[in-house]
Amino acid sequence: MSQVLTISCKLKVSPSQAAKLDATMDAFVQALNWVNQNTPEKVVNAVKLQSLCYYEIRARFGLSSNLAQQVCRRVAGSRKVAKQKKRPVKEFKSGFVTYDARIFSFRQKDWTVSLTTVEGRERFELAIGNYQRGMLAGSNPKAATLIKRKDGSYYIQICVEKKPPKQQDTDKVIGVDFGRTDIAHTSEGDNWNGQQLSRVRERYSRLRAVLQRKASKGTRSSRRRCRQLLQRLSGKERRFQAWVNHRISKAIVSRAKTTNSAIALEDLTGIRERVNQQPRSKAERRRTNNWAFYQLRMFVVYKAAIAGVPVVLVPPAYTSQTCHRCLHIHPDPAQSYRNGKQFKCGHCGWEGDADFNGAKVIALLGAAVNQPRGPWLACQLQGYRKPALYCEVVRVG
Ligand SMILES: [Zn+2]
Repeated sequence: MSQVLTISCKLKVSPSQAAKLDATMDAFVQALNWVNQNTPEKVVNAVKLQSLCYYEIRARFGLSSNLAQQVCRRVAGSRKVAKQKKRPVKEFKSGFVTYDARIFSFRQKDWTVSLTTVEGRERFELAIGNYQRGMLAGSNPKAATLIKRKDGSYYIQICVEKKPPKQQDTDKVIGVDFGRTDIAHTSEGDNWNGQQLSRVRERYSRLRAVLQRKASKGTRSSRRRCRQLLQRLSGKERRFQAWVNHRISKAIVSRAKTTNSAIALEDLTGIRERVNQQPRSKAERRRTNNWAFYQLRMFVVYKAAIAGVPVVLVPPAYTSQTCHRCLHIHPDPAQSYRNGKQFKCGHCGWEGDADFNGAKVIALLGAAVNQPRGPWLACQLQGYRKPALYCEVVRVG
């Protein structure tokens, strides 16, 4: 199974080229909306759409044959998604054009791409770094999307198909526990605590409070200025969080790669639906419903796939309460060996960091199922309180 990666590359665009790209984007979005408004909503097949309005698109909007086909495909794609979500396709917004191999090509020799515009073919140099070069080298991309960003710069998002390196069967497993008291903690003892993150968050939230106060009074223009600043702030905070998540996930995956280990994570899919079955604390909800932790998990999973590191998902129940050394849980369901950051086993006496213990338990569960026997395995570890923990464990990839 190969994966499709999207490589985002900035284009070097001259003023005259920019005009051509803008004209193409305008024509493209107008054609999208025209097709969407002038064909029956129930038509979700690109070929059918094409037979209905291909000539009209070409005549009205001056798009090349293949760009007209792209319009039909895009409308059809959006309608299919909308149908699933049971809502109509909204208006298309300007600022992008989709390309396929007939109207887009990549040349490695001089790191350029050529794109069809409404005024013929244009060649653009890519302003890219080593990461993009590494990903594009030797590839033969078949699809791309041209994007214009808010700041007026142009990017081409190139779809590259990569054969993932063969996953190695290994019995070594690194367990990773996310977002209890630390952001992440591994069974190797690596941890990333939230101190720097909360300092930055606090700074943002103080700033936000000031701006919100100002946004409610003062002159009209200063109120507007404050609203703009607030909006910019939320983007900044989000990018900072993404940068942190990239760093952590990269470190975890490269550690697994160099030690030839698999990575075990808690399986949190569908946990929201299961809330009624398992009592959960406020902290637990924060862990599962927070987009930042979700993003971090996704980053680990996809970076692992690129690196050929197997990922094992284990059931999350009791991972934080079980002692990793003797696999015991506190006999009284109302109590736990865990107390905040501290874990003290009442059975074998092990004492230490609670998140480290959690990561160790996850690693154990992962190791128990990471046998190369097939995708679905069942396990029942000793020492669990309920047979409800009889579990199915998923091997990803
Ligand atoms: Zn113990």
